[in-house]
Amino acid sequence: MPEGPEIRRAADRVAKAVVGAEITGVEFGLPALTQYQAELSTSEVTEVTTRGKGMLTRFACGLTVFSHNQLYGKWMVTAKPQLPTTRRSLRFAIYTPKRWALLYSASTIEVVPDGAVEEIPFIAGLGPDCLDRLTTPAKVRRRLSSRRFHRRGLTALLLDQSFIAGLGNYLRSEILFEAGVHPDLRPVDCTEAQRAALAKAIVAMPRRSYKTGGITTDPKLAEALKEQGHRRRDYRHWVFRRGGQPCYRCGDTVVDGEHGGRRTSHCPTCQPPPQR
Ligand SMILES: [Zn+2]
Repeated sequence: MPEGPEIRRAADRVAKAVVGAEITGVEFGLPALTQYQAELSTSEVTEVTTRGKGMLTRFACGLTVFSHNQLYGKWMVTAKPQLPTTRRSLRFAIYTPKRWALLYSASTIEVVPDGAVEEIPFIAGLGPDCLDRLTTPAKVRRRLSSRRFHRRGLTALLLDQSFIAGLGNYLRSEILFEAGVHPDLRPVDCTEAQRAALAKAIVAMPRRSYKTGGITTDPKLAEALKEQGHRRRDYRHWVFRRGGQPCYRCGDTVVDGEHGGRRTSHCPTCQPPPQR
């Protein structure tokens, strides 16, 4: 599933293609939403933003389209006004004379008046957005230490969108690695220094990933590995999906595991196991 940074980059691509452009049509794949097509088709897109892994496409007429890609949704922005070759089903399309923004296979799409956006259950349940500039390490640190969250296992907590919105599988492993925290710990088990490092990583890693297009390793390291001929999948992450390979920091062997049915990876030396 795309995580916060990927959705934000998709929103940027869609915004570039449609914001302020003449709209020649808006189309929905779900019959329940076709009633909005006429009004949106004569309007203009004013803004495309994200909240966690959800996207908000705002129209000048006062309606907002909320979409969530879930597991299979995919945005495609065409360079020409024509449909790409795909077997996916089209769920939401914004047509302009030059480019088309097309959402395929998404499982959640709603159209609401601007004023009702905060009442969409998905949006109402979100914690601070990992990419929001108001989400600071100090704010995240307070949440980690709060009664509501401090006894939750970190592997579950980091995926809980009500804790911090926008984190997913790869960011979870990369944040824990960056902070030097073992996946089995809870915030309450961590030292003050570890909680501070976690808060810092929770803010820093999604921003880095957004900026680099999905790379969470140190940009200088990634560049050096690329120059040595390594493939992107080898230098993209510190530990995620690198089980059996050497840690870039200490040389120990990265371990792939599973928490809650979803992949985690960690370095046993950089992220020492809890003392029992
Ligand atoms: Zn290591």
